[in-house]
Amino acid sequence: MNRFISTSEAARLDAADSLASLRAEFHLPTLDGEEVIYLTGNSLGLQPRGVESALKTELESWRTYGVEAHFHGPNPWMPYHERLTDSLARLAGAKPSEVVAMGSLTGNIHTLLASFYHPTTERPLLMCEAKAFPSDQYALASQAQWHAHGELFEIRGTDPEGAPTPDEVLKAIAEHGRRGATLLLGGVHYFTGRAYPIAEITAAAQAQGMLVGWDLAHAMGNVPLKLHDWGVDFAAWCSYKYLNSSPGGVAGLYVHERHHGPETFRLAGWWGHDKASRFKMPPEFVPERSAESWQWSNAPVLGMAAQRAALDVFDRADLDAYRAKSLAMTDVLLGLLDHVAAQTGQEIKVLTPREPEHRGSQVSVQFVGRDRRFFDYLVSRGVYADWREPGTVRMAVAPLYSSYRDLARLEVLLAESLTQ
Ligand SMILES: *Cc1c(COP(=O)(O)O)cnc(C)c1O
Repeated sequence: MNRFISTSEAARLDAADSLASLRAEFHLPTLDGEEVIYLTGNSLGLQPRGVESALKTELESWRTYGVEAHFHGPNPWMPYHERLTDSLARLAGAKPSEVVAMGSLTGNIHTLLASFYHPTTERPLLMCEAKAFPSDQYALASQAQWHAHGELFEIRGTDPEGAPTPDEVLKAIAEHGRRGATLLLGGVHYFTGRAYPIAEITAAAQAQGMLVGWDLAHAMGNVPLKLHDWGVDFAAWCSYKYLNSSPGGVAGLYVHERHHGPETFRLAGWWGHDKASRFKMPPEFVPERSAESWQWSNAPVLGMAAQRAALDVFDRADLDAYRAKSLAMTDVLLGLLDHVAAQTGQEIKVLTPREPEHRGSQVSVQFVGRDRRFFDYLVSRGVYADWREPGTVRMAVAPLYSSYRDLARLEVLLAESLTQ
């Protein structure tokens, strides 16, 4: 059988890839002595090699200084969260004062909505996409339920699974935005891999008088973001997917600087208090003038140490090259899927938009009429992807560690799995 991407073509593309050397910064799982084809960086990113020594450094500070490690050692813990700020701001396209590493994604959505969802009788709606990730669905429904005038408005659509297309989102905003208080959408849809036009949707909803937030779980470290310039009001993300920052690792949030004043309501905690007087422990909360004022608690240093090591790898990557590699690799992935479909007679339905501007590093496909057996075969041969009934497989490349050789091997194994 001829191939869409041959081993020699893959070798040529890997040799020309300016990010290829970063793969050595990660631990690749192996199966029978061979590195697996890891296509689940959208679920849990791989472990950067630097994590172990970063953790050891903080364990040693704890061992050596005890509580005094807040002020001593190579990275004093008191301002530890600040060590992540510049790298996160670069990935979010925000000012450093607009981002903070903290909490968990779902928790951050709740704390941001406490500030940015205030329904009234005229504007009751919390608008979101239908078929959002379950945690978002539960969180948003409970927010609507919590407020006297709260009302959830799910924008239904015609994308696979009922998620809306950008046009359907814009239409809902045009029709219902005048009754909307807040819009919260996923920047890249977790299931279809669709990347939404954040700037355009944000502007449309704000023109109707709404506040606009984004769940960037599948967008941070995946697609280019310019949250500040796009005028996004608020956003949150988790760090264990494309950011490779350890399972359940410290999440993050963004708040546009226009909301940093004390007039914005916050669910407060001591770590959000003005740093200059935090330890005077005054009775009244005075917020720091930055996204840091949304913090509740002192920094979980071990989780942040892992994230610092992971962001060190991102800091070395040119973000234009990162995006270009993501698109080039997903082009190859789409091409090989079409090729395998034609050669094997297996219908493979692509659920992700093919236009580069509407996708990131993930490709979701349905193997029509297939049960799990071919997928189990792939897993047994070292292809790690994500299976969902009926016949749906999500695959993501991770430009920091995926190689074209991975894709060439994938094509051979996929054809094998469908014809055996
Ligand atoms: C991964 C993901 C989550 C997970 O939430 P946690 O609070 O980190 O457990 C939530 N929402 C979306 C859209 C996700 O992709």
